[in-house]
Amino acid sequence: MIEIIKADITGLHVDAVVNAANSSLLGGGGVDGAIHAAAGPALLQACQKLDGCKAGDVKMTPGFELPAKMILHTVGPHWQGGGNGESAVLSSCYKKCLCLALEEGARSIAFPAISTGIYGYPKRQAAVIALTALNRYEHEFQSILCCCFSDSDVWIYQKVRDSLSSL
Ligand code: ADP
Repeated sequence: MIEIIKADITGLHVDAVVNAANSSLLGGGGVDGAIHAAAGPALLQACQKLDGCKAGDVKMTPGFELPAKMILHTVGPHWQGGGNGESAVLSSCYKKCLCLALEEGARSIAFPAISTGIYGYPKRQAAVIALTALNRYEHEFQSILCCCFSDSDVWIYQKVRDSLSSL
């Protein structure tokens, strides 16, 4: 089941939370900063051993002090106008997180709206990519949460879900 919720992703009791990280994996602002703050300093130590992460790829750590068992750190694309392969990179983030979560036995997973903050991806277009990727895996998980951080993001996701389901 895919649910669209408004929440702070760091408080969610799921098997896997996805972090919209930067390629250094050494922490940043936005959801990345919130996850590092909530998971505690052991997360940074673990990330330092991962040798960074390319855009569109994913690396895993334990959840440390988060309620989640694991954190899937993925690096979304910087929005550069849309002509630079951004949609394929964003789609790859979702698919690779879902595949790795399945391999690791996760039954529940929560995603933030990757790339739509500091990285500037237009929110509606990003939600289309997110929900298209998530729909394909809906039956593989007990729960897939689209964790929005504002009412307006919830509204965008709901509108996009409605438009995709009427296709
Ligand atoms: P990016 O660099 O990939 O754009 P950001 O962290 O700047 O990543 O933003 C990605 C999304 O995460 C934005 O929609 C932002 O509002 C949201 N966000 C920020 N903090 C949290 C949080 N604690 N829980 C869930 N979503 C968050």
